[in-house]
Amino acid sequence: MQNTKVLFVSAEVVPFAKTGGLADVSGSLPQALAKVGLDVRVVMPNYGTIDHKYRQQSHKVCDYEVELGWDKKKAEVFLYEEEIPIYFLHHSHYFYRDQLYGYEDDHERFAFFCKGVLEMLPYLQWQPDIIHCNDWHTGPICILLKEHYSYQSFYRKMATVYTIHNLQYQGIFPKESLQFLGLSSMYDHPDALEFYGGINYMKAGLFYSNALTTVSPTYSKEIQTSAYGHGLDGVLQKQNARLGGILNGLDYEKYNPQKDPFIYIPYDKKSLELKKRNKIKLQEELGLPVSDVPMISLITRLADQKGLDLIQQKGWELLQKDIQLVVLGTGEEQYEKMFQGMEKKFPQKVSANLKFDEELAHKIYAASDLFLMPSCFEPCGLGQMISLRYGTIPIVRKTGGLADTIQPFDPKTKKGNGFVFTQYHPDAMMEVILQALDLYKEEPKKWKILMGNAMDSNYSWEQSALQYAELYQHL
Ligand code: ADP
Repeated sequence: MQNTKVLFVSAEVVPFAKTGGLADVSGSLPQALAKVGLDVRVVMPNYGTIDHKYRQQSHKVCDYEVELGWDKKKAEVFLYEEEIPIYFLHHSHYFYRDQLYGYEDDHERFAFFCKGVLEMLPYLQWQPDIIHCNDWHTGPICILLKEHYSYQSFYRKMATVYTIHNLQYQGIFPKESLQFLGLSSMYDHPDALEFYGGINYMKAGLFYSNALTTVSPTYSKEIQTSAYGHGLDGVLQKQNARLGGILNGLDYEKYNPQKDPFIYIPYDKKSLELKKRNKIKLQEELGLPVSDVPMISLITRLADQKGLDLIQQKGWELLQKDIQLVVLGTGEEQYEKMFQGMEKKFPQKVSANLKFDEELAHKIYAASDLFLMPSCFEPCGLGQMISLRYGTIPIVRKTGGLADTIQPFDPKTKKGNGFVFTQYHPDAMMEVILQALDLYKEEPKKWKILMGNAMDSNYSWEQSALQYAELYQHL
């Protein structure tokens, strides 16, 4: 295992660029792999939004031309080294923009990225054994390596692992994408990249990788059904034998209530009264009344996937209760308006923070009593793991990684680390919220046990990193 060389390729990596959980995983899994003895390097686009302090500490290692359709584009690679080497693949026109993605030319941008990553390797004089690709942005690497590059001796022994972090986002683009990738129309076929008249970058990973994983065991089964397959369930059923689920871990150093520099007052399982002081401080900061009513929080992308329509349907009823609701999120306008409306109607109970704010997120995880995650589907989910770490009790729907990490608390046996409902229905969600509020109010001793169970749950990376290392070894 010692000498295995792994190139980890991702469109977002903490602390450089983040829109969601993919960035957290790409920031922490490579480090965990390095700890178990692998030679791991990471490559990502050099976004204009990356903080200057990282850019200043990086230096150029090479430049070269990448063929894109009939054109050639210059790629430059910068190396930033802290714990492990991070390569920033640079092209100012493609990556110096306000957002990471969501542009009309995303197919061209990420065709450039994928080709650029493969073309970079001879210049680095480094031959990874494994190229670990993640989500649609990097799917084309799998097909390009297998169908084109592996014919050159430099690339012949390399294998790809493709990890699905969220099957909903597949990178479906017009057919001209094939030209950017340098692939013939032979691949415009349902058993290749064709998907309902377009070209699907995720399929390039699903069909052409050497191993296929997703981020929790339950999600790996769910995505083979029509309810969760986003049109690819048939494809995934065919790949069943080589599709596995490895649960994401959490960076237990970064998310540590004893040491977290972002939270007001550090605490641990033995000093839970200090957690209450975090709540008071947050209430003051957000302009909510200082009181010991249960504080329920949501920190999330405001997307349909997250079960926000259930909250829409039960918002009024929920806000009749003696609670505070703290929301941190950005995304779909309808949900931004919904939470704004709730705050306007119930200013003493609701704080709607419609922005992306890492520091505030940590403060909320530390201050809240309950964390609501009623997702319609959830490949793994990190929010529930972070809240466990901070003794904040998750209320989740039993799906994907939520099903794999949260066990319902049983007041009789005192086992379990959260509250769980199964049916995707507002009443089912409301029933467990009420159970949670009841336990909080009526049974403080049991609540303390529950907080202890949550903080004792261990979802650090060690176990999962070993599973990935074994998979690499196998390949
Ligand atoms: P997803 O990857 O689907 O967005 P996850 O639960 O896996 O969901 O990961 C979300 C990550 O993004 C968590 O670390 C969460 O704390 C963070 N996050 C989401 N929205 C915000 C926000 N508005 N501000 C700060 N952090 C956020």
